[in-house]
Amino acid sequence: DYTVLKDAHFGARGIPQSQTEAVLEEWAGELGTDIRRGWEFRALEQDDDGVSVAVAGPGGEHRLRAQFLVGADGGQSTVRAAAGFAFPGTSATRGMYLADVVGCQVKPRPLGERLPGGMVMAAPLAEGIDRIIVCEHGAPPA
Ligand SMILES: Cc1cc2nc3c(=O)[nH]c(=O)nc-3n(C[C@H](O)[C@H](O)[C@H](O)COP(=O)(O)OP(=O)(O)OC[C@H]3O[C@@H](n4cnc5c(N)ncnc54)[C@H](O)[C@@H]3O)c2cc1C
Repeated sequence: DYTVLKDAHFGARGIPQSQTEAVLEEWAGELGTDIRRGWEFRALEQDDDGVSVAVAGPGGEHRLRAQFLVGADGGQSTVRAAAGFAFPGTSATRGMYLADVVGCQVKPRPLGERLPGGMVMAAPLAEGIDRIIVCEHGAPPA
């Protein structure tokens, strides 16, 4: 809630992704959520009582059973395709890359430049850590 801040909001938006994820993961844990990293959704089968899901986990392939499956797996959602939902939007035409990098001496700080081939931005996040964002014109998303 940015309204609790009395000054400019940039500092709040500049929190490293890893820190935001840690806060959200702790909260989800308090709510009883079982977060499993390194597991990949592969396929689903639906019936009247629920859904069976094939996943690849650390120990190989597994099957999970649940009443519902919610796909929150991004723009190229495998869950959406497996469930047979149409994609009525338009496909992405431009890819952007973001990395939080240690040991990069970016000058000036922050940096933002539009160039004939694209654009680059870099901003300090914390001591020794810079966020670098790059966009290359004409390079479709991978
Ligand atoms: C450089 C950059 C800058 C951006 N800046 C902004 C901004 O300033 N403001 C803004 O609003 N948006 C911004 N966006 C867009 C924003 O990041 C996305 O719209 C948002 O992250 C989409 O969230 P999501 O949860 O739908 O998907 P994602 O964040 O893509 O999350 C999907 C997750 O599902 C996982 N996954 C994928 N497939 C599987 C599978 N088969 N099994 C298990 N897990 C799977 C992925 O590993 C990922 O963790 C930016 C994006 C980029 C790349």
